[in-house]
Amino acid sequence: MSKSAAAAQKSIVNDDSGDLEYRATISRVLHYVYPQSFFLFLSIVGFAIYAITQPLAAVLIEWLIKTLDGEMPNGEVLVPAAFIVVAIVRGIGTYMGGYYIAKVSQRMIEAIRCDLFKNILHLPLKLFDQNQSGKLVSLFTYNSTLMANTAARSITVIAQEGLTVIALLAYLFYSNWQFTSLFILLAPPLAFIINWAGKKIKALGKGMQKSMANLNGAVSESFSGVRLIKATAGEANSQSSFEEIAANTRKLALRIAKINSIYTPSMQIMVACAMALVVVLVIQNQGDMKSAELIAYVTAAAMLSKPMRILSNVHVKLTQANVAAAEIFSYMDLEKERNSGTVEAKNLQGDIGFKDVSFRYTSDTENIIDNLNFSVKAGETVALVGRSGGGKSTIANLIPRFYDVENGSISIDGINISDYSLSSLRKNIAIVSQQIVLFNMSVSDNIAYGSANKTYNDIEHAAIQANAHEFIEQLPNGYDTIVGEDGVLLSGGQRQRLAIARAILSKAPILILDEATSALDNESEAKVQNALDNMMGHCTTIVIAHRLSTIEKANKIIVLENGRIIESGTHDDLAQRGGNYTKMLAKDFT
Ligand code: ATP
Ligand code: MG
Repeated sequence: MSKSAAAAQKSIVNDDSGDLEYRATISRVLHYVYPQSFFLFLSIVGFAIYAITQPLAAVLIEWLIKTLDGEMPNGEVLVPAAFIVVAIVRGIGTYMGGYYIAKVSQRMIEAIRCDLFKNILHLPLKLFDQNQSGKLVSLFTYNSTLMANTAARSITVIAQEGLTVIALLAYLFYSNWQFTSLFILLAPPLAFIINWAGKKIKALGKGMQKSMANLNGAVSESFSGVRLIKATAGEANSQSSFEEIAANTRKLALRIAKINSIYTPSMQIMVACAMALVVVLVIQNQGDMKSAELIAYVTAAAMLSKPMRILSNVHVKLTQANVAAAEIFSYMDLEKERNSGTVEAKNLQGDIGFKDVSFRYTSDTENIIDNLNFSVKAGETVALVGRSGGGKSTIANLIPRFYDVENGSISIDGINISDYSLSSLRKNIAIVSQQIVLFNMSVSDNIAYGSANKTYNDIEHAAIQANAHEFIEQLPNGYDTIVGEDGVLLSGGQRQRLAIARAILSKAPILILDEATSALDNESEAKVQNALDNMMGHCTTIVIAHRLSTIEKANKIIVLENGRIIESGTHDDLAQRGGNYTKMLAKDFT
């Protein structure tokens, strides 16, 4: 089995931990229901109105027969009018119940989505690396809707059908308590069947989910890895393991269908037996009941079967809601980004110090950054160079605490970065990263993103410095042009210049440039470099670059290999040393 399918299976197997977790989840779902108590109450009133009109149908039939027998004065007017009145009252009940329960569920969905968004946004970056964004999106669309709607549907069923059963039973007892008491004797065997089928279906349902997870895993892995499958001529293998999973899914689905198909007719047979019993009793011991009353009685008894059947299925819905909810809550419970620092970083100078810093992304890998020591004085520029995968971007990630160091410490102005409040720390750092992020909004909003209260002039000024003004002016709507999702409507170099303009505008005292000009041609690069040079004058800058022109100007160059510093010094020093840097000069820099 593939790794992802195995993980999916494991998480489902873990759900088996049983009733305790099930109840815990239900009680958390109820926390979202409580604030809607008022609307819930209104909907239950609606369901109650609906339920009370059910036995009235039997009463109306009684009246009709009495009218036909001439036992009811004014019956020819009263009975038709009563039919309409009952329908209107039931309509009001249906409307109230349906509308207000929808209000409850929609408000629940809103609250869950907002809570979830708040929680997920504050999760450490690590968790975004580990979760596919599609999975996170489905929590907001699929899970929250399924959870709230099925919870609302269950409440509806329990209230509406439950009250209907109560109303009908009340009527039956009132009408003839002796018959009804006998009738009730059939309840235990019915309950037994319901319970048996429920357990079976629940167990099979879990197996079915497992099977579906395997199916999903197998399909998505095969398609995303299709290149590898083709390259190794592994089609036949993939095909046969997929067929096995598909067959397994079919078998389970059929077992569920079998139980469902046995279940409904057995319920119906039980009900028919009950009805037969009632009919026998009625025929043999009419006692003082009139035929109209008897027919009404039998009608009401027959009406019991539908709400009973619907009620008996409600646990299926509840189980579904529970699974969806448990997953939502598991994401809400993930630990947030650590933000216990209280120092507000204001007017930072920008002295940066790395002391014995070690770091790895996941605990099962080796250190990506290994016992690193270096410092950058305020206003200085340090260039990080070295082979791909050496850990340059990782160092850039550690300074704004996108990831927390494992050992050692990083300080800014002598204070450990984890002692600053996260937002104040990050506001003091401008990053142009290797992966530029643009939002689907206007060019000017993208440049101003993260910088409060910037005027149009400020934005334009930053764009001019970043050598972006010219191309922005040529866009269809200039600075108001919407750039498309993640800026797809722009070229790589244009995206970079917007990111640089954003960094210039932020006026942060610490600047991190990770291959910030790699996508630019020589001419644009020279212009942008000019602006960056100006900026570097006032900032502490950490620059990762392949361009010699950028590197040689740095106050210090650090050569990294496998997360360790193998050489450091000024360009002139290193160039003469005849070590790694000298070799890189010959072939790596442009
Ligand atoms: P390049 O010059 O190619 O940009 P780099 O020096 O910037 O390389 P890093 O991006 O710091 O290298 O990566 C260092 C190591 O960390 C690599 O082995 C990479 O596989 C690993 N790595 C990077 N990002 C992550 C991540 N989010 N999760 C897990 N491992 C990562
Ligand atoms: Mg990198």
